[in-house]
Amino acid sequence: MEVFNLASDLNAFLSSARRKNLRISLVPTMGNLHNGHLSLIDAALANSDLVISTIFVNPLQFGPDEDLDAYPRTLQRDIELLQSRECHVLFAPAVSEIYGDSLQSPTLVQVPELTNSLCGASRPGHFDGVTTVVAKLFNLTQPDCAIFGLKDYQQYLVIKKMAADLLMPIEIIGSEIVREESGLALSSRNSYLSTDEKNQATVLYKSLQQVSEQLLSGTRNFSTLQSDATQAINEAGLNCDYFTVCNAATLHEAVADDTSFAILTAAYIGETRLIDNMRVAID
Ligand code: AMP
Repeated sequence: MEVFNLASDLNAFLSSARRKNLRISLVPTMGNLHNGHLSLIDAALANSDLVISTIFVNPLQFGPDEDLDAYPRTLQRDIELLQSRECHVLFAPAVSEIYGDSLQSPTLVQVPELTNSLCGASRPGHFDGVTTVVAKLFNLTQPDCAIFGLKDYQQYLVIKKMAADLLMPIEIIGSEIVREESGLALSSRNSYLSTDEKNQATVLYKSLQQVSEQLLSGTRNFSTLQSDATQAINEAGLNCDYFTVCNAATLHEAVADDTSFAILTAAYIGETRLIDNMRVAID
């Protein structure tokens, strides 16, 4: 695997790949890789000739009281994992390589329509940070496709809309959530949790599953479904930020006629914020 820290070195490498007409895929991450990230590498390998992963803990997407400094950075181990999956290229730039000296007053890419609710409401500015860095990574790598985890379902929709609205000729592919056997979705932030907290956190998956089954069996009393699940999550010792049934395409509150739902939740366990979701299609 080629490892680059500088955009100029990455560019030199990619211009020769482009001359060979290789189909290029991009897998952006913040590192501390787990099997969820590695499943994206596998999907990228299945979809393209040249897989570029990136590891960049993006300061612009963290709020002032969030865990930017504490975020786990495990570059050496990540390199070994990427090599074991046969990823072709890793780009792991420093903050200055991406933002120069513009971090105080950065040029932003914004997708207002999908970012005012859910995680966007709880984390002001978060999605502007995500879309801005992803647009920069798209410009640098000019991939044919980019793979994002459906674990961050709102993020996936936001990036899809950014690419479509800005006429970026990049196919955005969503890849299914990888979970522990307990149902807990894999996340770099799970490393903040004790064993007991991990057990408590399985209430998120269980609640999503229950609501999913209710939707499939025809229940459309969304407010009761949401408040019962919120109560179960709080009773398990978490602090539920939101538990919402939405239209899977628009993220608007679900209505009875919808045929494609996304159930989305975010909850704090101690200081750690976890998110999860499940999508349900009605035939
Ligand atoms: P992160 O490093 O948390 O920014 O995540 C990088 C990419 O990995 C994003 O596209 C995430 O949606 C994806 N991802 C994170 N956790 C999982 C998971 N458990 N299953 C599938 N994809 C994931």
